[in-house]
Order: sequence, then structure tokens, then C-alpha cells
Amino acid sequence: MLIVSKCLAGVPCRYDGKDNLVPEIKAIVERGEAVAVCPEVLGGLPTPRVPSEIQPDGRVLSKQGEDVTAQFVSGAARAMTLCRAHGCTGAILKARSPSCGKGVVYDGSFTGKRVPGSGVFVKMLLDAGIPVMTEEEYLVTACGKNETVLETERLILRPWKEADAGECFFYAKDPRVGPICGWPAHTSVEHTRQVIRDVLAAPETYAIVLRETGLPIGSIGLHRNDLAQKDDEAELGYWLGVPFWGRGIAPEAARALLRRAFEDLRLARVWCGYYDGNEQSKRVQEKLGFRYQWTTDGAPVPQMGETRKAHVSLLTKADWAAARDSGEGRQ
Ligand code: SF4
Repeated sequence: MLIVSKCLAGVPCRYDGKDNLVPEIKAIVERGEAVAVCPEVLGGLPTPRVPSEIQPDGRVLSKQGEDVTAQFVSGAARAMTLCRAHGCTGAILKARSPSCGKGVVYDGSFTGKRVPGSGVFVKMLLDAGIPVMTEEEYLVTACGKNETVLETERLILRPWKEADAGECFFYAKDPRVGPICGWPAHTSVEHTRQVIRDVLAAPETYAIVLRETGLPIGSIGLHRNDLAQKDDEAELGYWLGVPFWGRGIAPEAARALLRRAFEDLRLARVWCGYYDGNEQSKRVQEKLGFRYQWTTDGAPVPQMGETRKAHVSLLTKADWAAARDSGEGRQ
């Protein structure tokens, strides 16, 4: 038996009265293989409620400054009682929540910044020796979601495999590819293999495979990072091998992934960006319907050890749906 966050099972118990439905997790609850709990509701907090975050001193404060530590602790204790009563041997809990988050939580400033740490309930579970995974880890490792394949007329988007290292290196060693995106050209097949393990194996990151050859020619993904500060946001990133530039491949791949973002993953906003001078990437974003938001001078580019001028654009679900319905997104 598992214990899972109730909001992941589709119950609207989030602070804003919404849910975080993951159909695969709802299904294991319905099969009787998991019990769903909401520690914050068990602690007596109402729904909707003012959002709360763990402070650097360990207290939990609401955004209005109310100390809700006692409710968080008593709710987590009640959830632990249910966990023991049902003989739960593992947990799947909502990432980054001040109760249910594992490994990373918001930093207490209500600005979307994240810091290492775990939610109140997760700490109790881990202290009791009960392993915890986030829903994101579950979807990748246990649920086989990393086997998601998206298809378009010319392309197949599928997870990267270490066996792709040779093909990937062929394109990623070209200094015209990585540096304009903010990462250095790959130096060896082993370097590429390490990048596949450490970076490209992330959830919702796909090899762009040319249907006619069956070989990868680039990469595309939805990433959780500084631009995507909320759970219903992601940042779109992509690169292509030079021989495939100017053939409409990046927009074709991105349209498939944006459909997944807004329909399957139920995201509300997808961010995108490009460094000054990367006119190709700018054109791709415009074709996809992204709207320019702002420019930052001196944006850090950590992998290159420098700063650059960076332009940021945004595609909302409403804009995406309007473009789709008008047929603009199909070109
Ligand atoms: Fe979901 Fe946990 Fe927050 Fe409840 S406390 S809404 S179960 S993340």
C-alpha cells in the first residue's frame, strides 16, 4: 500500500481550491493500492486557504504572516497515523509543497525561489524510514512516462537513450549549436553520454528523431527552472543539428510538445527565451505564437561562464488554444 497526496488523486484540496490531478496516481487510488491524504486539510486548514511556505528558521508562515506551524505538524502527524494504519510502505507526494515536497521546497519568500529541503509530512515519513518519491519521479521511474513518444509528420519525439551518444555528439560537437543556447560544444562521445545521463534524461525531454532515418538530430524539452516558477509552468528549450536548420523542424517538434504541455500536462504557461543575436530561435518562438515579455541585460550563462542579453517570451494556454483553433498553429 502507498500513501499519496490527495491533490494528485484529483481532489481539489490545494490552497487555491484546485487539484494537481495525475491520472496515473488517481488510478492507483481507485484500484485500492494507495490511500490519499492531504496533511494540510487534516491539520484543520480550510480550502481554499492562504498559501504557506517553510521559513529559514523552520516555522511555516502563511503569506499573510500567520504562523501555521502547529496546523502543519498536527496534520502531518494525522497523516502519519493513517499511513501506519494502512501499512503504507512508500509515498508519492506533490513536489515542492511545504507539506508534501521532497528534496526541494519554496524558500519562504513567496517569490517562487526554491531551496533544498522537504515538507513537514515528508520529513516525518523519511524519519520513519518510509521512502518518498515526488509525482515527477514516479512518472519517470515507476510509471514509464519517460517512454512517452510524440509523433509528427516528419518526426518522432522520444526519450534520449545512452545509445544515442554517438549521433548526439555528431551534432552537439559543432560550436554553432550549443553556445548560442548557453552550453559549450561537446568534446567527446563520453561527454555527450554524460550529458544524456545528467541533463537529457530529465522528464519531458525528448530526442528529436527524423522519421525517415530513425536517428536523433536534436533535442527539445519542457524544463522546470528559473523562468518557470509555478507548478503549472515550464520553459521550452530546443536545439537542432546544423544540417536541419531552416527546414521548419523546430516549430514542428515544438507544436507537438506544446500540445502535450497544455493538454496532457495541463500547464497554463510555457516560457521560452533566446540570447541576443539568436535570430533563428526568435523566429521559431514567433511562429509558435509566443509573445515577447522582457529583456534582461547581463543574464548569467553559467555553463559558458559569462553574461548575455536575454529575451524572454511567453505562450499562455489561452493564446495557444486560440492559435490552434484559428489554424495558425498548424503552419
Ligand atoms: Fe496536495 Fe499535500 Fe498540499 Fe494537500 S498538503 S494540497 S495533498 S500538496
